[in-house]
Amino acid sequence: MSSLVLGLVLILALLLLAFALAGKISACKASLDKFIIHCDNTEIDSLIHPFEPEHQCHLLAAVFTAHAAMFKRLQNSTSRIRQFSGDASHELRTPLTIMRGETEVALRWGKTAEDYRSTLISNMEEIERMGRIIEDLLTLAKSESGKLPLSISHLSLSDLLQEMYVQARKLAADKNIEVHLQHKVDKEIWLNGDDLRLRQLFWNLLSNALRYTPEHGTICIKLECTATSAIVSIQDTGIGIEPEHIEHIFERFYRTDVARNRTHGGTGLGLAIAKWIVESHHGSIHVESAVDVGSTFEVTLPLDWDNGAAPPAPLPLKP
Ligand code: ADP
Repeated sequence: MSSLVLGLVLILALLLLAFALAGKISACKASLDKFIIHCDNTEIDSLIHPFEPEHQCHLLAAVFTAHAAMFKRLQNSTSRIRQFSGDASHELRTPLTIMRGETEVALRWGKTAEDYRSTLISNMEEIERMGRIIEDLLTLAKSESGKLPLSISHLSLSDLLQEMYVQARKLAADKNIEVHLQHKVDKEIWLNGDDLRLRQLFWNLLSNALRYTPEHGTICIKLECTATSAIVSIQDTGIGIEPEHIEHIFERFYRTDVARNRTHGGTGLGLAIAKWIVESHHGSIHVESAVDVGSTFEVTLPLDWDNGAAPPAPLPLKP
């Protein structure tokens, strides 16, 4: 008798449990149906807000929150792409507009061979400028898609900087800028790195130092070393960078003063490329600057990252 009662109680309990589960499942299903309708009819901007299930279902709530976070990331990268295409088109349109204007003037008013020659010279400058922008854009695009492998060798950083110093001195002479090289180490510094890319990195920093330092200024290239890293700093006595710009200068096409930087011939991509090169060598770069005093760019490169290990995936350059 007692086992019969026990059996009945058990069956009753099972039925209650089944009802409760069925209720929960149908509540979850209703939430899922609403979620599907929400996704079907909503713009991407609204999908970044977490969808609240009407019934408390922790698993669904977690899924909806993860979904909203995923859309937030997607929205960020779409707006970065939009911003980037806008910037790139603008940068390429400017030299085209200048070329068209000057060619129209020459066609309408040009009389002598000299008139046409000076238009062609100016057009040539703009063509070179577009070429530099396209080259830099290609470098960044390939770096982001991982299609720009580094060619790593064991190289003397001391020699590399010595050569860069000689080149910088030649260009600096035109502006009466002094260039110094300080080896703050008593031995030659060797590391694993891509020779061409490291030259590009230091050249981007040095050409900026030359560009943004007025006549009779000074540029100092310093090489120091810790037990694990080489530290190269490039210090100038130039115009400096205002504090509000500092956190943005490694972004593509960011300039502190668009009009002035254009006349100086920069593409606005040099520091973005420098950052990519440093990070793909497992290093870091940072800047300190004061307006009308000067700027110091400091690059830290590890001495002994494993040549065989793949460098980290290149990072997107705009945060
Ligand atoms: P650009 O080709 O315009 O120089 P970069 O990416 O190399 O582009 O630099 C981004 C911006 O950072 C520059 O437009 C300039 O405003 C600022 N900048 C970079 N280096 C220096 C420097 N040494 N002194 C002052 N401003 C600098």
